[in-house]
Amino acid sequence: ERLVTTGADERERAAESALRPHGLEEFVGQKVVREQLSLVLDAAKARQAPSDHVLFSGPPGLGKTTLAMIVASEMGAPLRQSSGPAIQHAGDLAAVLSSLDEGEVLFLDEIHRMARPAEEMLYIAMEDFRVDVVVGKGAGATAIPLELPKFTLVGATTRAGLLPAPLRDRFGFTGYLDFYTPEELVQVLRRSASLLGVQLTAEGAAEIGGRSRGTPRIANRLLRRVRDWAQVRGSGIVDRSAARAALEVYEVDERGLDRLDRAVLDALCRRFGGGPVGLSTLAVVVGEEAETVETVAEPFLVREGLLGRTPRGRIALPDTWGHLGLTPPRDAPA
Ligand code: ADP
Repeated sequence: ERLVTTGADERERAAESALRPHGLEEFVGQKVVREQLSLVLDAAKARQAPSDHVLFSGPPGLGKTTLAMIVASEMGAPLRQSSGPAIQHAGDLAAVLSSLDEGEVLFLDEIHRMARPAEEMLYIAMEDFRVDVVVGKGAGATAIPLELPKFTLVGATTRAGLLPAPLRDRFGFTGYLDFYTPEELVQVLRRSASLLGVQLTAEGAAEIGGRSRGTPRIANRLLRRVRDWAQVRGSGIVDRSAARAALEVYEVDERGLDRLDRAVLDALCRRFGGGPVGLSTLAVVVGEEAETVETVAEPFLVREGLLGRTPRGRIALPDTWGHLGLTPPRDAPA
């Protein structure tokens, strides 16, 4: 299990929910999205009507689920949660929709992974608050329209581009979440530390924030691990030396790269002279599945300018060599 992964399992979810901001004013960063969203919600409250449907788009761990919960709490409405992968048939969606109450907020995570027939049912439900329930089979099948209460759909996706246009168009507002700055991560960490009752110094926060890949989920997770270290091996205070020592144990380096990330870069530079090298060859050398390398390690490395993807394969970039403490060979790909 990677410490810097952006995914979260069940246990992780429980630890996370203790640290979730409950209102927009507690939500750190994402100034533009916060302002846009508060306008949408204030307008809905003034009209005393359910809010328009809202879509949040952005990489994992940046606060999409948190914002969905905030939408519900700001509207004073209950929240119902499901996800694209859980909706494999139109009937699954019909069951969820028909059980909603007036004004309820339905959160669909990973909405781009919903089955196609369910997507089509969802367009109509979002626009006309109606579903057509098909009864019977073959030539005798008939569609019975079923009225739905006015609800608010909050969708979340890591890939807004994968949503079919008709679905995207039915959201009144789309909030694009971006990676957090180091200063914003420090704010997230301060808030979390006080909720956890952990003493965190400014240098400790900066050290952890700088290794968190722009992602609050990772920042909070690293904070918990450094707290463990501080309690067991240190003075109990999360300061710079505790952060450095703990994250060395967990092999998270000063830029937030972990062992797999470094193995990929190391193979690329030392074994293949900086590339280009094909993904599958690279994966074999680091002893991982190609898919893991591609989806888990590469997006961050590409964003950091530490790896390039070209039609001929993966290449090292000028920064890659420096990060590994190597000098690029004269004929290294630029
Ligand atoms: P996503 O749904 O985008 O994967 P989550 O909403 O589950 O992300 O957020 C992951 C964790 O990070 C949660 O514990 C949440 O409290 C924390 N978090 C995310 N965004 C913020 C923020 N802007 N301010 C404070 N904490 C945040």
